[in-house]
Amino acid sequence: MYYYDYYPFWAGFFYSLGIELVTSSPTNRGIMEAGLKKASDDTCLPIKVLVGHLQAFKGVDAVFIPRLVSVEQKTYLCPKILGLPESVLGAVPEGIPVLTLNVNMREGRRSFLKELEKFGVQLGKSRGQIHQALSEAYKWLRHYEYLRKEGWDFEESISCFDQIMDKSTGDRIKKADNNTGTDELSYPEQDNRPTIALVGHSYLTYENYSNMNLLQKLKQKANLKVIENVKLEEIEAQHMSLRKKIFWSHAKKIFGAGNSYVSNLEVDGIIYLSCFGCGTDSLINDILARNARISHKPYMVITLDEHTGEAGVVTRLEAFVDMIERRLNNETNLSSYGECLDRNSSIV
Ligand code: SF4
Repeated sequence: MYYYDYYPFWAGFFYSLGIELVTSSPTNRGIMEAGLKKASDDTCLPIKVLVGHLQAFKGVDAVFIPRLVSVEQKTYLCPKILGLPESVLGAVPEGIPVLTLNVNMREGRRSFLKELEKFGVQLGKSRGQIHQALSEAYKWLRHYEYLRKEGWDFEESISCFDQIMDKSTGDRIKKADNNTGTDELSYPEQDNRPTIALVGHSYLTYENYSNMNLLQKLKQKANLKVIENVKLEEIEAQHMSLRKKIFWSHAKKIFGAGNSYVSNLEVDGIIYLSCFGCGTDSLINDILARNARISHKPYMVITLDEHTGEAGVVTRLEAFVDMIERRLNNETNLSSYGECLDRNSSIV
């Protein structure tokens, strides 16, 4: 589930321990259908996709499914992710053992290290080897986060890790170690196109099969902003407007980035990519939609499930971009029903 967030961390960890890491192939129709058949109807699309991926493994010695409880202080992950090692056990092909460990950063790094040491016993590795692997894992993660902020997409960013695992040298790793990585993620901008922000869970926005290549389609029509463009301090600051901080990790980022885009005059519209049956999305979407309405910011929700058709997504995307372009070209006109089209004004 957190592959797009933490794959380099675990890749670095296992690489340092001399354990070969195999990932399933990108999602395809077979994987999706296998997931739909096996997963509970009540669960959300990303979990169904995961169940499909698990069934695709053949010829591996073990499957690694970490239990992600909390990945930063004062936040938790969605209960469906907390219960993953047990809830998807039935999808793992017979005879393949499941390796798991708890990741609970609410209890601090020391407790995480202890958990890794226990995990190391299962892998037959010493404490020293685990400590070394942890430091390598953080190094890979920092490098990955730097590349994402530099504007590299997911595949480009992880290609250098794959090269390292293939035993070729990775000069680019050195570059990241010396860089604080504060530059913003940016795609080449064309001034005559609208700027649209896409927010949502990483396992939806970067999962090309599930979202029907939405990211690529959007990049063809508009200048794109994503969650990674918003600095962490800005995300935190956006929560000051709430009576209570959001304590789900992804939801916190989605709200912080989305709310920052609501008040960002350079952003012409916001798309929230959500999935049917997601509890956290239903809450965050409602808050963002209200704030967008107050600020007269065009806002659209695309809700994905296994029945979503590509034609429907494309039509909605085109209509949204057309509407924004017309607004940008005619915003000083008054509409026939008297609503002011000035995007920066709340005057009716
Ligand atoms: S946060 Fe939403 S999409 Fe993610 S696992 Fe939970 S219910 Fe599913």
